[in-house]
Amino acid sequence: MNELLFDTVEKESKVELPENLIFGRTFTTHMFEMNYDSAKGGWYSPRITKVSNINMSPAAMVLHYGQAIFEGLKAFNQVDGKVAIFRPDKNLERMNNSARRLCMPEFDTSEVMNALLELVKLEKDWIPPKPGHSLYIRPVMFSLDPFLGVRPSETYKLIILLSPVGPYYPEGFKPVPIMVTDKYVRAAAKGVGDCKCAGNYASSLLAQREAKQNGYSQVLWLDSIEQKYIEEVGTMNIFIQFKDEVATPRLTGSILPGVTRLSVLTILKDWGYNVNERDVAIEEVAEAYNNNNLVEIFGTGTAAVISSLSKLKYNDLLMNFNDEEAGELGKKLYAEITGIQYGRIEDRYNWLTFVK
Ligand SMILES: *Cc1c(COP(=O)(O)O)cnc(C)c1O
Repeated sequence: MNELLFDTVEKESKVELPENLIFGRTFTTHMFEMNYDSAKGGWYSPRITKVSNINMSPAAMVLHYGQAIFEGLKAFNQVDGKVAIFRPDKNLERMNNSARRLCMPEFDTSEVMNALLELVKLEKDWIPPKPGHSLYIRPVMFSLDPFLGVRPSETYKLIILLSPVGPYYPEGFKPVPIMVTDKYVRAAAKGVGDCKCAGNYASSLLAQREAKQNGYSQVLWLDSIEQKYIEEVGTMNIFIQFKDEVATPRLTGSILPGVTRLSVLTILKDWGYNVNERDVAIEEVAEAYNNNNLVEIFGTGTAAVISSLSKLKYNDLLMNFNDEEAGELGKKLYAEITGIQYGRIEDRYNWLTFVK
């Protein structure tokens, strides 16, 4: 294992945080960086260094062939002053899965976990001491060979950036209008839908733009083969509460296996809900709505935790939930998960990793 280096790292005496934090715009002073070269035998010189621009060739393979993967997770200032990261082991494991699928090198998760904990410890004064705030953690890996032939690169860089963030819904937990799209698909069967790779997001932008032009904030994605089964909502996993069941699409390979999704499944089972991972046809949801059998729908993801739907447009059917307030189950789950993250509720599943 390589020793973690600290490049002339000095902690600032006082962190100046902007008044209004816009998601993903402010970065802390330091980042983690590590390089890979197969000719050098793998990963080398892991270091914590100042955030600065990257010097790379215009022929760098990532720009041309898109070997780029990322992750998203959060660190929290807890009520008793401790700093906790939510399920980081799951994100590092998932990043290695993405790497494998894109012919990128895997890393030693305990080495990167150690570096992440050191980085967050160094930058912990950047976690805003305000309710609902946190430190968003963004690992990213990309290929660097200056080469125009199509093959896996031999050189890569892995970076971990930190960004202080405010609450996702500054005016409180507000439900959002969503439209079903069958014009575009997010991810194809046997493709890379279950990887957090950059290209998936580029290919989803047009659908989102068209949804916005129609007055919806995001699209609900259907499967790539029949456009029949529900997959995800925007960049979140989706849960549908029927009167006697909570259902979420099973992981078919084109769905991103969310950490929040997994956590919600655990909590719902614990609470005694009838919860199933299964195929959910959009027609089934429409029928349940028409029969008064549909209770609520919400998305799950690290950034917002829970995001309730106010409306769902499917062809000519406009399903109306609550415009003003999130659904009951969504609110309960939000309170439970954020309660654990901020230390207001006991960490009974051992989901937190503490920064010492
Ligand atoms: C990141 C992501 C999610 C949510 O995953 P979490 O681990 O819960 O943040 C869901 N769908 C897509 C497409 C994603 O990129």
